[in-house]
Amino acid sequence: MMQEKEWKALSDRYIAGTYARADALFVRGQGSLLYDMEGKRYIDLCSGIGVNIFGAADPVWVRAVTEQAALLQHVSNLYYTEPQTLLARALCQKTGMDRVFFCNSGAEANECAIKTARKYASDRYGPERNVIITLKNSFHGRTVTTISATGQEVFHKDFGPFTGGFVYVEPGDQGELRRLAEEYPVCAIMAEMVLGEGGVQALPQSFVDEMMKLAREKDILIIDDEVQTGNGRTGRYFCCENYGLKPDIISTAKGLGGGLPIGATLFGEKTKDVLTPGTHGSTFGGNPVCAAGALSIVERVDEALLAGVEERGRYLRQELEGAPGVLSVSGMGLMAGIETKGPAPEIVKACLGRGVVLLTAKEKLRLLPPLNIPMELLKEATAILKEEIARASS
Ligand SMILES: *Cc1c(COP(=O)(O)O)cnc(C)c1O
Repeated sequence: MMQEKEWKALSDRYIAGTYARADALFVRGQGSLLYDMEGKRYIDLCSGIGVNIFGAADPVWVRAVTEQAALLQHVSNLYYTEPQTLLARALCQKTGMDRVFFCNSGAEANECAIKTARKYASDRYGPERNVIITLKNSFHGRTVTTISATGQEVFHKDFGPFTGGFVYVEPGDQGELRRLAEEYPVCAIMAEMVLGEGGVQALPQSFVDEMMKLAREKDILIIDDEVQTGNGRTGRYFCCENYGLKPDIISTAKGLGGGLPIGATLFGEKTKDVLTPGTHGSTFGGNPVCAAGALSIVERVDEALLAGVEERGRYLRQELEGAPGVLSVSGMGLMAGIETKGPAPEIVKACLGRGVVLLTAKEKLRLLPPLNIPMELLKEATAILKEEIARASS
């Protein structure tokens, strides 16, 4: 039988080198626990980057997925299906949005959002009105267009020419936001309410208020990227609810599928009829198996679960704020960024060695545990995390 070390070598030999992988190979999981080949147990504070929001092998999700796989695994979007229809209705009923387009990832959900915003403006005002304001330090995906939307210089090299029509504003700089909206023919402002990859940085309320004001004054659309913040992560179904924001377009993915690839772009009143037959599409989008799994997730993101997210988030903040080696704690709900005195990658490595899985975002530690992580496991993991943060700072 091959040892873990041999599997890693084989993987590095045959899989494209796009990931700097951590030294772990997981073979199974149960709830908020993961296990490697040697049977070592890990507490999961990452949930596959906010994907497995009900943990690993969640029995309700497993049943929904396997039952649908045994019935019909795929059918073209040229035909109607039940799971996709039920999922779209559930999403609209939970969020007050009007219609949904299904795809397979966050980047694709954003591509659809961008296309929709440009078509809305083109239909009404002509094709020149195509500029989208996005945030510095944002992250919107890895396609050529979504890396253009991503306001980080590091992404804007090697793969040009890039899609034009994006201008960037520092999060929180209302004056610059207004200046850009006045200087350029802007069709949309696109933002994460909490910048995830950019360091778990929540937008100030005043900045979001200015976005809404500009949107009203100039018929600029608001695209809210909830790929990471959505589906209960911040204690509301979508994070925009924390800001009293009703976006024209919401993109989501990650947690939506509970572990299978699915993305969605949700349209409000203004945008629900923009896309017409032939203007957009996806072979796999809203695949019956993924949609059935997602439905089993969305239905359970209810008031009780969200209250649990808030409670766990409060616990994390109480424990970590002011703890030895912790400089600051950012984020909302179960999306936490921790600025530490010691280097974050070293802490991540030490925690992995002690059976706690976590992430980084920029220079910070990032926690995205399953939304239903049992309190005992959260306490056990937090104690280890605190020790390692303190150790790395001494
Ligand atoms: C992860 C992420 C994306 C990209 O999602 P993929 O499924 O990897 O394409 C886009 N936006 C945000 C905010 C994300 O966190």
